[in-house]
Amino acid sequence: MSVPRIRKNDIVAAVTGTSKGKTGKVLQVVKSGKRAIVEGLNPVKKTMRKSQDNPHGGIVQKDAAIDVSNLMLFCPSCKKGVRIGRDKDGDRRIRRCRACRHSFDG
Ligand SMILES: [Zn+2]
Repeated sequence: MSVPRIRKNDIVAAVTGTSKGKTGKVLQVVKSGKRAIVEGLNPVKKTMRKSQDNPHGGIVQKDAAIDVSNLMLFCPSCKKGVRIGRDKDGDRRIRRCRACRHSFDG
């Protein structure tokens, strides 16, 4: 099975873990595509020490990176995380929803 390729600004759905069923936008792909930071998914609270940047210390909420194997691209037509297939549009490689053929790449 190939690794689902997820890109920045994709809308994805979490398929496992505490954020299961939630969707969010990919803010950043890290570790050469193995993990992604997704807005609103996998939030962690971090206790900050007092520092110059954060003079009062306290708790900040951050989105932690999620393994991309726990994410699926969210299809707006199917309204759920879906498996994708690869397709060619001229010279471009595009990703399509396997269920409804929605193209994720324009
Ligand atoms: Zn679909």
